Amino acid sequence: MLIGPGGAGKGTVSRALAARDPTLWLSRSWTTRPPRVGEPDDAYVFVDRDRFMARIDAGGFLEWAEFLGHLYGTPTPEAPPGCDVLLEIDVQGARQVVAKFPDAVVILLMPPSLEVQERRMESRGDPADQVALRMERGRDEVRQARQLAVHEVVNDEVAQATARVASIIEAARSARLEHS
Ligand code: 5GP
Repeated sequence: MLIGPGGAGKGTVSRALAARDPTLWLSRSWTTRPPRVGEPDDAYVFVDRDRFMARIDAGGFLEWAEFLGHLYGTPTPEAPPGCDVLLEIDVQGARQVVAKFPDAVVILLMPPSLEVQERRMESRGDPADQVALRMERGRDEVRQARQLAVHEVVNDEVAQATARVASIIEAARSARLEHS
């Protein structure tokens, strides 16, 4: 599981991880947030609140949470056999997953500085008020994430951060094999 504040680069790193490792299955979340300009169609399943609520009622989410006024949720994963599920979610959702799967690997991805974090959000087109909200929320997110995550990786450069996360996943897989 990758967690961390807005602008850490969780989306970029998780896509890079899934691209380099076919045995990692990247979950596609549902959200009621409208798509950003230029955001790929497959970044999320974009739905309205009624559809999201109907899926909650049907028990169709592994976890879900409200983040800055929008709902986000992980549909019950249907990963192919032999694959590990990769989630990119907020800390509230991560807590729910850890409660269900205590062995889940939680990695906190951090931006290298507050300036870079802010710039990343601006350059993906977030309006100024959203950037300010997400920066503020990010401080809280990091505080809570540090209580949950065993690993912390700074995303200064995507290839390097991806390699470090990949090696944490590999180590966790080896430990799991040894204990099975
Ligand atoms: P964004 O609007 O920037 O795409 O996402 C806002 C926050 O929601 C980020 O911290 C992101 O990781 C988180 N998020 C994305 N998908 C999910 C999900 O399925 N569940 C939860 N709990 N959070 C999610």
